[in-house]
Amino acid sequence: MKNLVILGGGYGGMKILNELLPHHLPEDVTITLIDRVPYHCLKTEYYALAAGTISDKEIRVAFPEHPRLEVKYGEVTGIDAKNQKIIIKDAEPVAYDDLVIGLGCEDKYHGVPGADQFTYSIQSIDKSRLTYSILNNLGPGSVVGIVGAGLSGVELASELSESREDLNIKLFDRGKHILSSFPERLSKYVENWFIRNNVEIINGSNITKVEEKRLYNHHEPIDCDVIVWTAGIQANQIVRNMDEEKDQLGRLIITPIHHLPHDEHVFIVGDCASLPHAPSAQLAEGQAEQIVEVLKRRWKGEEPPASFPQIKLKGVLGSLGKKHGFGMMADRPITGRVARLLKSGILWMYKFHNG
Ligand SMILES: Cc1cc2nc3c(=O)[nH]c(=O)nc-3n(C[C@H](O)[C@H](O)[C@H](O)COP(=O)(O)OP(=O)(O)OC[C@H]3O[C@@H](n4cnc5c(N)ncnc54)[C@H](O)[C@@H]3O)c2cc1C
Repeated sequence: MKNLVILGGGYGGMKILNELLPHHLPEDVTITLIDRVPYHCLKTEYYALAAGTISDKEIRVAFPEHPRLEVKYGEVTGIDAKNQKIIIKDAEPVAYDDLVIGLGCEDKYHGVPGADQFTYSIQSIDKSRLTYSILNNLGPGSVVGIVGAGLSGVELASELSESREDLNIKLFDRGKHILSSFPERLSKYVENWFIRNNVEIINGSNITKVEEKRLYNHHEPIDCDVIVWTAGIQANQIVRNMDEEKDQLGRLIITPIHHLPHDEHVFIVGDCASLPHAPSAQLAEGQAEQIVEVLKRRWKGEEPPASFPQIKLKGVLGSLGKKHGFGMMADRPITGRVARLLKSGILWMYKFHNG
């Protein structure tokens, strides 16, 4: 028997399972999925978990079941590529013939002193739960500083402002306008929403230091009861520790068919892979489909394709609380209730197909 090991049951890992398990897993192949969480988590909804507007259970999806799938619950601490083994905390190593690394990403603090120690996070389920408990236990009038106004910072700030109107939310962003990767028209729409909903936007900010309950913007101290960091991501530490070529975000350089350049048995999926698009769940899923294609061909004894067509992305949608949204669909900006409805619809469909 050959063993395919998948590290991480996130969007990439889950898609690989769902593509292979029903009909495409050869009789002589087993799969071992290793994750530190015993279910698939909908990371795209962590902002709502942290804001207290959805329950934990709403963003969990059970891993699939199959006689040749073993799900191992554990913390991966390293990859012994020479001996083709995965090192797991307090457990026996797991051997692989083929490996898919889909361990996602972590916060990147850009060397800002104190940021890792004194800010809260929405990058993992356990950190989002902690952020939820600290935010929702705040007294009225408390100040929440959110650093970084990309998609996740904007979604958190808007959801929290709807959930806790009594809080004083400050959204710090480096750019002249928030959501710098979107067209200016969209950024202005979102800024106006924040003005109407009493969220203070601090443009052109540069956070130089963070202390307990205090951040420094261009060295000016600003007191906050809680600070949440949404100002950048990098690949999972396990991947950053690997002795392989990486990009600036610590993501592994891969071939056009998604494996390491010198090891055709180690594939990288999702936020751990260096790809020419912004990391997203959609991208992880598109890449997972292509990895499955390579594995299927190899298992049949056929040559895999030399490359794939570019992964087609449908667009990006962001929420502004439960009733409004914004985004780009087929390169066109959309705003308002339709955008929000589309976002909810996509989540519903995802849960329907995976639940
Ligand atoms: C607030 C927020 C909103 C977002 N909104 C969108 C959106 O609207 N659309 C979109 O496309 N993308 C969105 N994203 C980005 C998207 O969530 C990620 O790009 C996507 O989750 C990447 O998928 P992945 O499979 O690479 O990793 P993940 O989905 O992060 O999965 C990684 C898995 O690895 C496991 N893991 C990590 N480390 C270890 C370890 N050491 N040992 C064992 N297991 C481990 C984790 O438990 C997890 O199950 C959003 C992200 C955030 C934070």
